[in-house]
Amino acid sequence: MFKIAVLPGDGIGPEITVQAVRVLEAVGRRYNHQFEFKEGLVGGAALDAAGTPLPAETLELCRTSDAILFGAVGGPKWDQLPLHLRPETGGILALRKEFGLYANLRPVKVYPALVEATPLKPELVRGLDIMVLRELTGGLYFGKKYREPLPEGGFRVVDTLEYTTPEIERILRLAFELALKRRRKVTSVDKANVLGSSRHWREVASAVGEEYPGVELEHMYVDNCAMQLVKNPKQFDVLVTENMFGDILSDQASVLAGSLGMLASASLGGGIGLYEPAHGTAPDIAGKQLANPIAAILSAAMLLRFSLNLAGEADCIERAVTVVLERGYRTADLMEEGKIQVGTAEMGDRIIEQIDPPRTLE
Ligand code: NAD
Repeated sequence: MFKIAVLPGDGIGPEITVQAVRVLEAVGRRYNHQFEFKEGLVGGAALDAAGTPLPAETLELCRTSDAILFGAVGGPKWDQLPLHLRPETGGILALRKEFGLYANLRPVKVYPALVEATPLKPELVRGLDIMVLRELTGGLYFGKKYREPLPEGGFRVVDTLEYTTPEIERILRLAFELALKRRRKVTSVDKANVLGSSRHWREVASAVGEEYPGVELEHMYVDNCAMQLVKNPKQFDVLVTENMFGDILSDQASVLAGSLGMLASASLGGGIGLYEPAHGTAPDIAGKQLANPIAAILSAAMLLRFSLNLAGEADCIERAVTVVLERGYRTADLMEEGKIQVGTAEMGDRIIEQIDPPRTLE
């Protein structure tokens, strides 16, 4: 029995998460696994119901589960609240911190049927399959910050970028382990020509690289990497970098897949993994069955692969998505002439049919 904490959150979160749960149930039927899904409140939904974006019961639910399936949090209704109460900072950032989720994995894969949907020339992205690995709990976002008035007026505002050797080692080690199961290449991205923290990042990356003689390691400056991602993205296999560079580069890379609605992610580190689509709550389309559930469904596949060690079952979900797209089914975000438009739940139905086809009674 696998216990999964389901935190749907706000906006389109509940609509897409329910499809991911249905897909996991179909996997359970096909492969004879028992999943126990328990829902918890998080984000704006939790604020409205319990006065906090991350109630103690939700934390306890996560602590006693094998993995967390997360939707998305936030929305205009809660934008004016102080930072600690905001669904994003008080919800998802607090969860990452609580469970020590230091590694964010974002696979950027271009499905053959969607080659024309990306803004780059088709030949640049056909067959593209990159794993972007972002350090998630260090660097500029978590370093010391202060603001002090200047005697002549105005302020000095400081953010600090710091990394320790162990923080760099553990994320690099994960990059090499991932590369071993892929095309055996790691690109470590830094700004070592300017930043001391980057120079250390590069030294540590090289030292960890020596433990993996079968994997090619290259170092690349972040500005060059931004350019290479649109000029020749297929040169990358695993791309690993610090928190802020990763934030920016992973969003840039996401455009290559055609729609935000296609991008899954996993946050790993402590004892438990958290799986969520890369997009937000899309308030503009929430409640209209217009959202693409594939990012959430592919996040569920990552959950099977990384938290439950069920690689065959994860492959099955990914194959189902490929077939459904090949057959021309599209949600509104990917719709083009000649394709069949479906809503959120119907996209879930089409994918489930590929995993656990309805049986006719004898
Ligand atoms: P967003 O990702 O929610 O939406 C950006 C655009 O992409 C919108 O036009 C939206 O309709 C579209 N889109 C997103 N997901 C889609 C899907 N599955 N199918 C079809 N179209 C999709 O980003 P935003 O508008 O900047 O943020 C909206 C809210 O979400 C904000 O409150 C923000 O803070 C929050 N947010 C939360 C998370 C998270 O929970 N991890 C991440 C990002 C943003």
